[in-house]
Amino acid sequence: MSNQLSTAEALELFSDQDLVGLGMAADAMRRRHHPHNVATYIIDRNINYTNVCTEYCSFCAFYRAKGHKEAYVHPQEVIFSKIQETLDMGGTGVLMQGGLHPDLPIEWYEDLFRAIKKKFTIHLHVLSAPEILNIAQISGISLADTIARLRDAGMDSIPGAGAEILHDEVRHRIARLKCNTEEWLDVHRTAHKLGVRTTATMMWGCGETLAHRVHHLNVLRQLQEETGGFTAFIPWSFQRDNTSLGRFVKEEATSVEFLRTLAVCRLFLDNIVNIQTSWVTQGLKVCQLGLRFGGNDVGSIMMEENVVSQAGANFHASEEDLRRIIRGAGFTPKQRDTLYRTYFLN
Ligand code: SF4
Repeated sequence: MSNQLSTAEALELFSDQDLVGLGMAADAMRRRHHPHNVATYIIDRNINYTNVCTEYCSFCAFYRAKGHKEAYVHPQEVIFSKIQETLDMGGTGVLMQGGLHPDLPIEWYEDLFRAIKKKFTIHLHVLSAPEILNIAQISGISLADTIARLRDAGMDSIPGAGAEILHDEVRHRIARLKCNTEEWLDVHRTAHKLGVRTTATMMWGCGETLAHRVHHLNVLRQLQEETGGFTAFIPWSFQRDNTSLGRFVKEEATSVEFLRTLAVCRLFLDNIVNIQTSWVTQGLKVCQLGLRFGGNDVGSIMMEENVVSQAGANFHASEEDLRRIIRGAGFTPKQRDTLYRTYFLN
C-alpha cells in the first residue's frame, strides 16, 4: 500500500503532543475497517494447563520450575470441567496456554485436543509460538509437521502470545531463553501457510525504546502483507508486580501512553483489521477510551486468567460491564467468536 505510515513517521507520532488529533486519526482508520459502528467482545476462558516452565522470563510471575511444590499440570477432567463452565456461560472458545513444559510430547496435546473435540463444540485457540517450538523440539519433528498434527487434532487457531517485543536486543534482555524474533515469526508464517489463523500481540513498556516498538510493528505488518493470516493485534502494557523485571522498570505505562500507543498501532498496522483495547491491564475506563483511539474490540470477559493477574493486573469485568462501556463510547456491542465473526451471536 502506497500511503502506509513509514517507521520514521510512526516514531514521530509517538512524540506528537496532539493526543486528541492522534486519536481522531486512529478513529478514522478504525472506521475504514469497521464502518458499522459496532464494537465487539468475546466470552471465552483462559485455561493455563500447566505452570511448569523452563524459560524463566524476567517479566513473568506465573511460571514454576518442575518439581516446585506449586507446579501443576491439569488432568483432562479438570480441563473438561473448565470448558463446560465456559459453555454454560455462553462462551464460544477457550484460550489454552501454559509454560514450556520440558516433558510433554506432541501426543499429550493431540490426545487432549481430540478428547475435547469429541466431547464439546468449542473453538480451541491454543498454545503460542514458544510452546509450539518447544513441542517440536521435545518430539523431534519439524515445525510444519508439529503445527499440522496439532491442527488435525483440533487446534483451531493460535494466540499471539510470547511476542513481547519482537526485537532481539529486547528479547535477549527480558526473555533470554525464549524464541527469538525470527523463530516467533516463523511459527506464525508456517501456521498461516497451513491455514491456521493467529493473532499478534505486543507487550510494551518493558524498557524497550520507541524504535524497538516500531520495529515490532513493522515486522508484523510485513508478515501480514505476506500471508494475511493475522486476525487481530492485541497490545498491552507490562505489569511489573511480582516479576524480576519489575525491579528495573520502575514505572508502569500511564493511560496517555496506552492511548497513544494504541492509536499509533492502528495507524501503522493498516492491514490488520481488528485491534484490541485492553481492560485487563488498563481497567474498564481507559479501555473504553481506547475505542476512540483505534480499538474496535474489548477482548474477553476472561473467566480465568493467571499470567497477567499474577503480575498485578487485577481488574474484573462481566459481560454486561463490557457491553456498557461499548455502548457508552457510542457503539453497538456485539459478541464475537475467536475468529471475530459476529453473525450468529447477539
Ligand atoms: S512468560 Fe511464558 S515462557 Fe516465559 S517464563 Fe512465563 S510461562 Fe514461561
